[in-house]
Amino acid sequence: MSYQHRWIDGSAIDLPVGKVVCVGRNYAEHARELGNEVPDAPILFIKPASSLVPIAPSFSIPTDQGEVHHEIEMALLVSERLQNVDALTAQWSMAGFGLGLDLTLRDVQNELKKKGHPWERAKAFDGACPVSGFIDARGVSWKQPIEISLEVNGALRQRGNTTQMLFPVFQLVAQMSKVFTLEPGDIILTGTPSGVAALQPGDQLVATFGNTLKVSTTVTARENTEEVAGNEIRERW
Ligand code: ZN
Repeated sequence: MSYQHRWIDGSAIDLPVGKVVCVGRNYAEHARELGNEVPDAPILFIKPASSLVPIAPSFSIPTDQGEVHHEIEMALLVSERLQNVDALTAQWSMAGFGLGLDLTLRDVQNELKKKGHPWERAKAFDGACPVSGFIDARGVSWKQPIEISLEVNGALRQRGNTTQMLFPVFQLVAQMSKVFTLEPGDIILTGTPSGVAALQPGDQLVATFGNTLKVSTTVTARENTEEVAGNEIRERW
């Protein structure tokens, strides 16, 4: 599975592939739909570089670990090293903007939460972060709210805009940079609007970022990794 950052025309972006820094509950509606409190400081977590895959023309989901929820999110591609910066510096240090899916094994996550365990098994697995190509940051204006949306099989499931965020995009990046040094090639996911639900193999997805980006893709079933590993071992013997 190889991933590389790309512009929306498909050409490669000359930045390394790094970590993905994410925020939980950045839209009040979404916090409520999962029965969570609205936080006063952003809830941060990381997906490793190994979780990144291209979102289109298809991406795969595990089928043997309960529900896999879609969380459509605005994705930011970092172009500079950012450590303890302010929001304005953060804004000027982005290479591009796009869309990401924070895939979540919801049943696994609920179990982990109950036990007080970390979330990685539910959110950081291989393929847990499908991302689109990026729009050059210079072509995106922040003067008006930007809307993101997700349709599944023709039905609108998620829609939200930047004014509904509890922590606005670049203030969020600034806060993240106080905890984790952001490196060129890192991606930031800025939280999901309400409407999260389970995906099924065969689902057809259309995701949008403002009027600039529209991505169509298909969900496929991931081969059971343990079985694959078992077969490889048997073949070797
Ligand atoms: Zn999320």
